[in-house]
Amino acid sequence: MDNGLTGYIKNLKLQKRCLSNIERLADDAFVLTIEHKHDFLPGQVLAITTDKSVSPRLYSICSGNQENQLSILFNIKAGGMLTPALSKLKPGDELLVSNPFGSFLGDNQPAWWIAAGTGIAPYRSMIRSGLGKHNMLIHGSRTTDGFFFESEFMPFFGDRYVRCCSQETKDGVYPGRLTQWLRGQSLIPPSLRYYLCGSAEMVVEVRDILISRGIGIENIMSEIYF
Ligand SMILES: Cc1cc2nc3c(=O)[nH]c(=O)nc-3n(C[C@H](O)[C@H](O)[C@H](O)COP(=O)(O)OP(=O)(O)OC[C@H]3O[C@@H](n4cnc5c(N)ncnc54)[C@H](O)[C@@H]3O)c2cc1C
Repeated sequence: MDNGLTGYIKNLKLQKRCLSNIERLADDAFVLTIEHKHDFLPGQVLAITTDKSVSPRLYSICSGNQENQLSILFNIKAGGMLTPALSKLKPGDELLVSNPFGSFLGDNQPAWWIAAGTGIAPYRSMIRSGLGKHNMLIHGSRTTDGFFFESEFMPFFGDRYVRCCSQETKDGVYPGRLTQWLRGQSLIPPSLRYYLCGSAEMVVEVRDILISRGIGIENIMSEIYF
């Protein structure tokens, strides 16, 4: 984590919030829902921790900005300081949560939304906030149970929803990494905007592909999860 952001996160004011629900989506992935006390822009994040002894970590909001609950999607990092504890929480437990912040913001300009793993979260917030009707959504996962919210995305995006799976196969799912899918596209429209969200490895590789295909850097928006 870069020092500037670490300092910023450490200085954030955290407030107690009650956990209203926790839902398991896959073996190691959960949606956690808390009371909604603040307005936010789709794409923003919250800093969250269980108690003051653990530095807060950042999580993209995955619910819509008109909903009366705030949700995040997270997966357990083995040996991690926070996520194993988050996964054991029960409704009624307390969390420490910041106000929403961040600048990875969706809007109504046509775009390709690209995500790896839990990096899908902000796009769910965007569609639930009324954005993205004509966009492409491209999601990469190692396993087929990692296509979080696919039953919501399928009717919304139709054939503009592309799932890429690197380690398992399934009908309707591209067999390979999303970078491989992207390289195979004859047309990557130069006039669109490209949103990238997920691991640094994915974001850097996709950014390189896009730049090599003539996309201007000013049209590439990135949110790196670290
Ligand atoms: C802008 C932003 C948005 C994000 N949004 C999301 C989101 O929506 N969903 C999501 O799941 N994540 C998101 N993240 C990532 C999230 O903030 C955390 O980094 C992640 O959940 C870490 O979990 P943890 O605290 O349990 O693991 P950590 O304690 O941070 O550990 C992470 C890994 O590093 C290893 N590790 C820790 N310390 C050491 C060490 N000293 N030496 C070697 N290995 C070590 C651990 O074993 C573990 O595997 C986001 C990150 C950013 C920056």
